[in-house]
Amino acid sequence: LAVALTSLSAPALADEVNIYSYRQPELIQPLLDGFTEKTGIKTNVAYVDKGLVDRLKAEGARSPADIILTVDISRLSNAKEAGVTQSVESETLASNVPENLRDPEGHWFGLTTRARIVYAAQDRVAPGEITTYEDLADPKWKGRICTRSGTHVYTLGLISAMIAHNGVEATETWLEGVKNNLARAPEGNDRAQVKAIWAGECDISLGNTYYMGAMLDDPEQAEWANSVRIEFPTFEDGAGTHVNISGVAMTASAPNREQALSFMEYLASDEAQAIYASKVNEYPVSPSATASERVAGWGDFTADTESLAAIGANRAEALRLVERVDFDGAPGSGG
Ligand code: FE
Repeated sequence: LAVALTSLSAPALADEVNIYSYRQPELIQPLLDGFTEKTGIKTNVAYVDKGLVDRLKAEGARSPADIILTVDISRLSNAKEAGVTQSVESETLASNVPENLRDPEGHWFGLTTRARIVYAAQDRVAPGEITTYEDLADPKWKGRICTRSGTHVYTLGLISAMIAHNGVEATETWLEGVKNNLARAPEGNDRAQVKAIWAGECDISLGNTYYMGAMLDDPEQAEWANSVRIEFPTFEDGAGTHVNISGVAMTASAPNREQALSFMEYLASDEAQAIYASKVNEYPVSPSATASERVAGWGDFTADTESLAAIGANRAEALRLVERVDFDGAPGSGG
């Protein structure tokens, strides 16, 4: 009987953690290696570039995934709202991840930040000529701004933050103003906007900080990067520069809960935060970690301390405004 009971008892869980990652392999490999070296826990990664939440919903309780690694507050908020994440309580995560960069209910945690900044033409925009996001709607920039689509999560994040600071009505007026200042209808990614500055199509663009590093590392794009300077706009109410996050969440059905938790805690540890700082051209979240020399060289700034969860809650309203003003339509056309 004893033998039978043993064989019928739950199978021992493998010492591994299964990760669904939107982040690219080369970015996270050093972290996976560091984790396995430290804990002996193996990692299995599936790179999922689209439909991560849909996949988890379809797999339901049978999903092998323990962890979601992704970028942007809207994706993290969507995952929580879709019910595919679970609440995690951890002293390490609470002390290493600032409160405004994690879900108040423990469903997701920021691991790095990226600022949404202005790339300004070195030769056509003076240092300090643009200091606030609100200023992007000033008619002096007419025909001089390039940006990616208003419906992209990076743009929606900034608009959501603008709503948090200035309210819906003022944000709609601002968005109309920005649209009227565009040199061309929104198209392409963040780097394509810098290329347009380099080519003389516009003078300023919106983009994430780490693309400066990505461009400098690319033989063709380095020229684009060298034609611009990073400016860190702030909100007029005194709040700092808008930052978004890359983050981690535990899936609702995680089969390896314990291992998943130690993976999350590792990512917030000093060791992993230092790897992030040196490998990904982003800012570590931990108060005890510092940005790499290269990233710090792009300039000092004060990050907005508004809660990312509160900003994420505005994303549906932000999308509604983008549609109302027809932000992606031809510049100057009515919304
Ligand atoms: Fe990106």
